[in-house]
Amino acid sequence: MAKITMTTPLVEMDGDEMTRILWQMIKDELLLPYIDLKTEYYDLGLEYRNETNDQVTVDSAEATKKYGVAVKCATITPNAARMTEYDLKEMWKSPNGTIRAALDGTVFRTPIQVKGIDPCVKNWKAPITLARHAYGDVYKNTEIKVPGKGKAELVFTAEDGTEIRETIHEFDGPGILQGIHNTDKSIASFARACFGYALDTRQDLWFATKDTISKKYDHNFKDIFQEIYDKEYKDRFEAAGIEYFYTLIDDAVARVMKAEGGFIWACKNYDGDVMSDMVSSACGSLAMMTSVLVSPSGVYEYEAAHGTVQRHYYKHLKGEETSTNSVATIFAWTGALRKRGELDGIKELQEFADKLEKATLKTIEDGKMTKDLAQITSLENVTVLNSQNFIKAIRETMEAL
Ligand code: NAP
Ligand code: MG
Repeated sequence: MAKITMTTPLVEMDGDEMTRILWQMIKDELLLPYIDLKTEYYDLGLEYRNETNDQVTVDSAEATKKYGVAVKCATITPNAARMTEYDLKEMWKSPNGTIRAALDGTVFRTPIQVKGIDPCVKNWKAPITLARHAYGDVYKNTEIKVPGKGKAELVFTAEDGTEIRETIHEFDGPGILQGIHNTDKSIASFARACFGYALDTRQDLWFATKDTISKKYDHNFKDIFQEIYDKEYKDRFEAAGIEYFYTLIDDAVARVMKAEGGFIWACKNYDGDVMSDMVSSACGSLAMMTSVLVSPSGVYEYEAAHGTVQRHYYKHLKGEETSTNSVATIFAWTGALRKRGELDGIKELQEFADKLEKATLKTIEDGKMTKDLAQITSLENVTVLNSQNFIKAIRETMEAL
């Protein structure tokens, strides 16, 4: 059969450890035999990031802006241990942080639901998509470890020299301090990305913060969302038969637990980080969570929500067998290929993405899966496959569809 041709390259961001191994297997078994794959390749593996002083990450983000669609493998965010392990020149920043900052995007995470892997929360019938603001707050903080007695103040100096000054605390002994910020511009982009994605996917949008306690900071998020909704989206939401509502985060958590799913839950940066891990764990496995970064200008970057699965990689290096779940990484590729197909009007590419997703889910439903899923499935007599054989099984399923 002739391979599917592409017109515009996908931005391909390779990564680290076990996910880098899966990346190559997915390309070899599931993509290259069927698609004349056109990518602009960026090696975000830690070694090459170090070699290029992290320029490769910046370049890959620029390429994403240029072409509009990227697919990314999980990457190591260096810490002290990685400094020695990879003999790094510097503790390079998180690639995801760099890419998010460049695209000013919002991260949407949706669990992949499949028969036999039931969410712990029994009433969740449809996936809950978490929209995480990807700029500022505690991720761009300034911290001080207060050595002892003294006064902490919050000072803003305007361009003309005028000051706003508030006392934070009069310390009578050692303590800690943290300064965080956000900008109206970034919050507005976040709001628009959420409203747009809700319309695109025809789902209700919930937004929650702690505005009762944070009367200026969190309240500002609430006000900006409401203003943009009223001015720009209300009519379209009503026409689409979907709803936007704001509630206190405590209330949102309580409602989420009782809801049926099938909506988007927008969260500030930290809440989104934590709540997306909760939703994905409740849906079975971190390895069953997709993630897409959407910029206000309509640029998309697809990835798996999990990390590089270091523990499995070390086993792999020792020659031991691994059973690492490649589903979220496969869905990162299908998401990107489908979007590329949509933008370029290539129907075959969109159909291929649908088919590969279907084959992946059917393989699991047929009882063939990796160890992480085998441990939690309600299916009986399942076959536990190793990393490579799971991917081969998906290929067989796809060939038979
Ligand atoms: P991780 O790679 O997400 O893995 C944590 C544990 O979750 C694994 O040890 C494994 O549990 C399970 N797991 C995750 N993905 C799995 C999969 N696909 N199949 C089967 N099991 C899976 O997190 P980490 O070990 O804390 O982080 C490793 C590296 O990833 C770090 O250097 C971190 O900086 C990086 N990271 C990158 C991203 C990203 O690029 N998006 C995100 C998070 C972390 P068992 O060991 O019990 O089997
Ligand atoms: Mg997290």
